[in-house]
Amino acid sequence: MPKPKVLFAASEVYPFAKSGGLADVAYSLPRALHSTYDIDVVMPLYTSINREKFVIESLDEYFEIEMDGVLYPVEIYGCKYEGISYRFVYAPLLCEREFLYGPPECGYEDNALRFGLFNYAIVAMLQKNNYEIAHLNDWQSALVPLLLNENKTIKTKSVFTIHNLAYQGVFDFFYLQKIGLDEKYFILDALEFYSQINFMKAGIAYADVVTTVSPKYAKEILTPAFGCGLEGFLKLHEKKLSGILNGIDTDHFAPPFNEIKGKAVSKKAYLKEAGLKGVSKPLFVFVSRFTWQKGMDLLIEMLPKLALAECNIAILGEGEELYHSKLKAIANENANVHLSFGYDEALSHRMYAAADFLLMPSLFEPCGLSQLIAMHYGALPIVHKVGGLADTVLEYKKCDSETKKGCGLTFSKENAAAFMKAVNTALELYKNKRTYNKIVQHNMLCDFSWNTSAKSYSELYEKIRQKRDNHE
Ligand code: ADP
Repeated sequence: MPKPKVLFAASEVYPFAKSGGLADVAYSLPRALHSTYDIDVVMPLYTSINREKFVIESLDEYFEIEMDGVLYPVEIYGCKYEGISYRFVYAPLLCEREFLYGPPECGYEDNALRFGLFNYAIVAMLQKNNYEIAHLNDWQSALVPLLLNENKTIKTKSVFTIHNLAYQGVFDFFYLQKIGLDEKYFILDALEFYSQINFMKAGIAYADVVTTVSPKYAKEILTPAFGCGLEGFLKLHEKKLSGILNGIDTDHFAPPFNEIKGKAVSKKAYLKEAGLKGVSKPLFVFVSRFTWQKGMDLLIEMLPKLALAECNIAILGEGEELYHSKLKAIANENANVHLSFGYDEALSHRMYAAADFLLMPSLFEPCGLSQLIAMHYGALPIVHKVGGLADTVLEYKKCDSETKKGCGLTFSKENAAAFMKAVNTALELYKNKRTYNKIVQHNMLCDFSWNTSAKSYSELYEKIRQKRDNHE
């Protein structure tokens, strides 16, 4: 029996282009599924992607896509990378840009058009190559289920995964026509959202199943506090919504040690690299996009207090300018605070390997990967108890040999005082080396891989494939 064909679409995929966790998931989930499915991963061929390095070549597949009377030629490229087959959509409108979505502060004005085109190209590929399942991710590919609904000759079933509800792809009504969609979709049950159009709504309304990346976030987004204005709409589609935790690819995130002793070597090397002093002091790290979601304001309020303690703090990230300057001011005042601005995958791995604690005060967190990576590398995350952070990090006091979850420190109230309290507990805990080391060891033995979650996705795929067969 040939394996069922799946097209997995995302706007960013590691190692080709990455701005956050979506790229990690789009890299690692297909790898976890490809023994069961004939899976192709598709993304835009941004100019920033190094075609020579990855041997990306034209597949001589061309589509002419029409939107509002304008014809857009699209070319499909491909490559094999680590055994997985990748497809790339190339069109100048979509790809010839400096940034993936726009500079840090805002998206490109014509993103509706750019990603509208991406969606049409995906549908053309689905039709041409007879994929049984399309797995769409976030707003950038959320129109596909709607377009499939429009073209009933294509039998592909769809899974739509919400990685972050805060980014919905909301655009001016003007773009509805520009992306070639009928006004019949400008209704509450489809694209309409406060007089604008909302790509995310198309995925939720028309996909056969909708998932998000943790069970807790799946519940949270049904409430006004986390639903970003879509809570009512999601409630309407609650029956097809479920939460499946992300995993990490443990081949890619592989600590250079498998014992706690080895961790000390990594810490020493990193402190030297960063010019920080004191191997015996706890090292707190923060690796993240600098945006309000990640609890930057809590972090910036808390950091000067933490910096007074006997510890080191290392921060890696990039994002909003305001946060850059506030962090710079703190680092200028405190010799034990080290900043690295920019995006650096290899450096992030060295920091996780060196860290004793990871700071992760996110205001909301659909799943979060940093805490999983940190625990896998033998660090204890200090997390705000929301979404995937609540699902994946158990309070260290509850750590015993029975639990399969990783452990760290958690706080519930969304304020800097609660965060500081958890950090103070961490400082105390670090002094109690026996208990601290026991938790580090526990975390290093936990399974953060895709093993369990890939099975859950397979089950979903099978469920909708059956639906497809029954309809044929
Ligand atoms: P999000 O997807 O919201 O950005 P996640 O925790 O799900 O957050 O995933 C973030 C991923 O991006 C992790 O793999 C993290 O290590 C990585 N990351 C974030 N910022 C940087 C950076 N500046 N340099 C290297 N890796 C980063």
